[in-house]
Amino acid sequence: MSRIFNFSAGPAMLPAEVLQQAKDEMLDWHGSGMSVMEMSHRGKDFLSIAEAAEADLRQLLAIPDNYKVLFLQGGASAQFSLIPMNLLGGKPGLIDFVNTGAWSKKAIQAAKNYADVHVVASSEDDNFNSIPAQDSWQRSDKAAYLHLTANETIGGVEFHTTPDSDVPLVADMSSNILSRPVDVSRFGLIYAGAQKNIGPAGLTLVIIRDDLIGEAHPATPDVFRYSVMADTDSMSNTPPTYGWYLAGLVFKWLLAQGGLDAMEARNVRKAGKLYDAIDSSDFYANPVAKDARSRMNVPFTLADGALDKEFLAGAAEAGLTSLKGHRSVGGMRASIYNAMPEEGVDALIAYMRDFEQRRG
Ligand code: PMP
Repeated sequence: MSRIFNFSAGPAMLPAEVLQQAKDEMLDWHGSGMSVMEMSHRGKDFLSIAEAAEADLRQLLAIPDNYKVLFLQGGASAQFSLIPMNLLGGKPGLIDFVNTGAWSKKAIQAAKNYADVHVVASSEDDNFNSIPAQDSWQRSDKAAYLHLTANETIGGVEFHTTPDSDVPLVADMSSNILSRPVDVSRFGLIYAGAQKNIGPAGLTLVIIRDDLIGEAHPATPDVFRYSVMADTDSMSNTPPTYGWYLAGLVFKWLLAQGGLDAMEARNVRKAGKLYDAIDSSDFYANPVAKDARSRMNVPFTLADGALDKEFLAGAAEAGLTSLKGHRSVGGMRASIYNAMPEEGVDALIAYMRDFEQRRG
């Protein structure tokens, strides 16, 4: 088996052990004589897969009993609209947002269709290279909730502490969920698209405190109505069964790695050595404030942008792919989610040093 180190922001690498297990079970899941893809979502085999996945996720994140876990479709992007549709019930309301980058902006834009939006703080003046100090946030009196993007996948900016909030905190954790322990009880709602740290694209997780599940906007489709999906164990219609199964394998893999404390230690080490390599060189640079740097997405530039193409071509030849930065920021971006082995980061650093020596 020859695997490359894929630094894509998502869909991203999955643990090789998980893919191997999926391969072994592909044609005949546990003696059932069929693939998980072919199973009825209402049959006992798939229900056992679904229940185990939820139980393992609950264990990983220590999700309290008064929270529901919903396995949905539509990506995190759908949630940008579905959260206001479900939490405001179609009534006029106000939502507070912290604006820390491209994904915050998309969430803000979508919410404007359903509510008044107030930006409590923005780092846009700083080119989204920091997180506004919490004592500067101008919170509204009557917001239905406060939304933040826990990790900005494009800018490489991450919240390293959970802010206090009198109103429910809603967090987009698409690109850093399961990378560290979080105190779920501090949040009203956590959501994440699967294709970075959970499993294949097509599955979206929503973890919601049950008292926030109320009446949705009348125009909300049932499959996106939290109350309906909570009451039907996310099976009001056919769920993304294979993605759910693979997510379950990833959760088991995470537990076998030692859970989220172990993942955090590994992620701190991986990101730390990559930022050290960038900071200790005059050839590479990362613009993000040190206390807001993401452990998952590490953007960096070369001193001479004219060398970008050559850098990328050489990297691909060395088995290090998808390092091109997002088109809106340019340069490079190394996404180093849970499934990126530490050797992948070491190989990238070695390549960067070598490239600098040759071309710097
Ligand atoms: N939020 C964040 C932080 C993301 O990184 C992404 C996708 N890269 C999205 C939302 C949108 O997710 P999806 O493509 O699943 O709709």
